[in-house]
Amino acid sequence: MVLDADMEPQKSYIIDPVSGEIIKDSDIKPVGITGTGVISVLSVAMKTGIIENPPKLKYGKILLGDDLFITEDDIKEAGKAIGAIRAAQLTLIIESGLHYDDLENMYMTGASGGYVDAEKAMHIGSCPDFSKKVVQFGNTSLALAREILLDESKLDEVIKLAGHITADHLMMATSGTFKDFYSCELSYWTEGMTKDQYNHFLSIYGLPALPLEPGTASVEKRSSENIKNISTSGVEIVENVGITIEELAVGCTLCHKCEKECPENAISIVERDDKRFARYDTQKCLGTACKRCVRICPVNAITYEDIQILD
Ligand code: SF4
Ligand code: SF4
Repeated sequence: MVLDADMEPQKSYIIDPVSGEIIKDSDIKPVGITGTGVISVLSVAMKTGIIENPPKLKYGKILLGDDLFITEDDIKEAGKAIGAIRAAQLTLIIESGLHYDDLENMYMTGASGGYVDAEKAMHIGSCPDFSKKVVQFGNTSLALAREILLDESKLDEVIKLAGHITADHLMMATSGTFKDFYSCELSYWTEGMTKDQYNHFLSIYGLPALPLEPGTASVEKRSSENIKNISTSGVEIVENVGITIEELAVGCTLCHKCEKECPENAISIVERDDKRFARYDTQKCLGTACKRCVRICPVNAITYEDIQILD
């Protein structure tokens, strides 16, 4: 399946993922793989044995079309994200004092609330299959944004509602439970650790074993469209979003370590008026201030604090 300009799923060709042979052709061709697509591919590949134990690919690559394929490195990268999601879900359950069996409903929103095949998400572990029911709500943030654009008074209702919400927050970054689950997830997705070994390590960490048998959660889809009424002109990709920000890099020696360290290629050091500045592209910078650039700087020239908006 591929998404057309109106974000509607359309049938494309059928391909043999091992030989690359087109079994049934179609005029509609994909140009890339969505996150939803990755979940589907992983699920089918795990069910059919093309992935024996993540990230091991029996035939080296999963072929999806011209220049479209999935490698073991891709599985590792996807697994790091899927593993983080699962580790966070499990951490929330444990830190709330619950057991896996206590989970009644699992709610999926965003793209997961519409496009993602919940059965496949359960199969690969990005959605717990030990809950009794999975409810897919569609893209709630887009739906809310749309409601507010159509009727500004809705914003007051939302602000009032937000005022009534009280919650405890669990910081995954500092949670020992999350660290234990996530180290198991990393070993599972990137090093080929089996599920039995996974559970063995959970017992060492004093955490309950995950059920090894597939769950029987039912799926309820409450939204048929992911994005309601896109507009009459379809969807366009906005090329330039975000802003450029700059910070004076006092004492910078132009070693360029910060640029090499940045995983997003978001920082560059520029010179102007005999001064050096760290320039951050907020379209690329993770926005969560990972600050790897700050930490690597040998002379503490940058802080990511005293920033100016450039344009
Ligand atoms: S905070 Fe992280 S993503 Fe942003 S510029 Fe620094 S290293 Fe790159
Ligand atoms: S790491 Fe520090 S000294 Fe090196 S280029 Fe970046 S800001 Fe300058």
